[in-house]
Amino acid sequence: KVYYFLKLKGEELKKFNQAKFDYYKKVNSFGAIIVAVTSIFYFISDCQIVGAFSWNTLLPRTFIILPLILYIFITKKTNNYKIVVSLTYLLAHGIMWCTIWAIVYLPDKSHAQEGFIIMHLMFVVFSFAASFRLSVFFHSMIIFNILSSHLFNHYERVDIMLSLGIPCVMGTIVLQIVMSLAFKDHYNTKKELMQMSTVDFLTKAYNRNILNTLIEKDSYRFVSSLGEKVQLLLVDIDFFKVINDVHGHAAGDLVLKSTAHTIKSNIRKDDIFIRYGGEEFLIIMPRTERAEAKQIAERVRVAVENTENEVQKITISGGLSSYQDNYKDAIERADLALYRSKQEGRNKISVETSVT
Ligand code: GH3
Ligand code: MG
Ligand code: MG
Repeated sequence: KVYYFLKLKGEELKKFNQAKFDYYKKVNSFGAIIVAVTSIFYFISDCQIVGAFSWNTLLPRTFIILPLILYIFITKKTNNYKIVVSLTYLLAHGIMWCTIWAIVYLPDKSHAQEGFIIMHLMFVVFSFAASFRLSVFFHSMIIFNILSSHLFNHYERVDIMLSLGIPCVMGTIVLQIVMSLAFKDHYNTKKELMQMSTVDFLTKAYNRNILNTLIEKDSYRFVSSLGEKVQLLLVDIDFFKVINDVHGHAAGDLVLKSTAHTIKSNIRKDDIFIRYGGEEFLIIMPRTERAEAKQIAERVRVAVENTENEVQKITISGGLSSYQDNYKDAIERADLALYRSKQEGRNKISVETSVT
C-alpha cells in the first residue's frame, strides 16, 4: 500500500520520517521549550483581565513547568521521531489545557478565541519535525479540546472558535503536505549523491571512497558495528589483460560486470562488497570466523569458475586475512595471500600465513 502523496511505504516511510525529524529536531525541541515558557507569561494578561493579582490562575499558568521538565528529561534519552514528536504534541496539548484551566477563573472568557488561534501557530511549528499522520492527528485534537472544554467553560462564541479553528487545521494539513514534498526532494537528492559517491557505476559494488573512510579514520564505531571477528577477502580476476587484448575493452567491461554479479550473489547480505581496483574486489565479512570465510571464498571462486558470460569463462584468485587493529594492514596481508594464489597457479584461495 502506497502512503498518500509521498509514495513511500513501510520501512522506507519510517526512514523518511526519521530523516525529516533529524533535520528539524532543533526547531522541535527549542520550539517546545520557548512555547511552554512563553505560555507562563499569559499570567500577566490574566492580571489585566482580573484587574488585580490573579491568584487563581497562578497555578494553571505555571503548572506547565512540571511536564516541561519531564519532556526535556525523556527526550534527551531518545531520538526516535515517533516518541519525541508525540511527546512534543502532548506538551503542546498540556499548554492548551493549562490555558483552558486558567480560563475557568477568568471573569471575561472572550479572549479565549484569540488564544486558541495562537495555539495553531504552536502546532504548526511542531509539524515541521512531525510525520504527516502524527501532525494531522494531534493538530485535529485542538478542535476536541475546544468542544470538550466548552462543556464547563461555556465560551460565548464557540461557533467562531470552530469556524476559525477548522480552517486553521486544514491549512496546516496543506502546509504539512507541501513541506513534506519539499523535504522529499532534498531527501532524494541527498540519497542519490550518496549513492553516486560511494557506489561504482559499472559493477554496482561500493567504490574505494567507502574504504578510504575506513582506512583513514579506522573509525571505532564502524569496526565495533561489524563485531568482534572481521574477515577480509581480496580477489583478482586471472589473466584479465588477455580478455581486453583479445576481445576489446567493452567486452572486458561485460566480463567485469558479470563477475561482480556472481561474486555478489555468493556472499551474504551483510558482507561489504567493494571494487578495490580495476578488476580487484574486496569483501569485508563482519562477525565471521576464519573457517566460514574460507567456505564463502571457495563458494565464490567455484561460482565464478562455473559462470558462463557473453565473452569468455574466467577464474579468480583470492587472499584471506582477518582484521586485527587496522584495515590497511589487513588488506596488505590479504594482498600477500592473493599474490601467493597467483604464483601457485591461480584459480585458488590462499590464507595469510602470519596468523596463529
Ligand atoms: P593476473 O592473473 O596476474 O591478475 O593477470 P591480469 O592480466 O589480470 O593482470 P592485472 O591484474 O595486472 O591486469 C589488470 C587489467 O585489468 C589491466 C587493465 O587494463 C584491466 N582493467 C582494469 N580496469 C578495467 C576496467 O574497468 N575495464 C576493463 N575492460 N579493463 C580493466
Ligand atoms: Mg588480474
Ligand atoms: Mg589486478
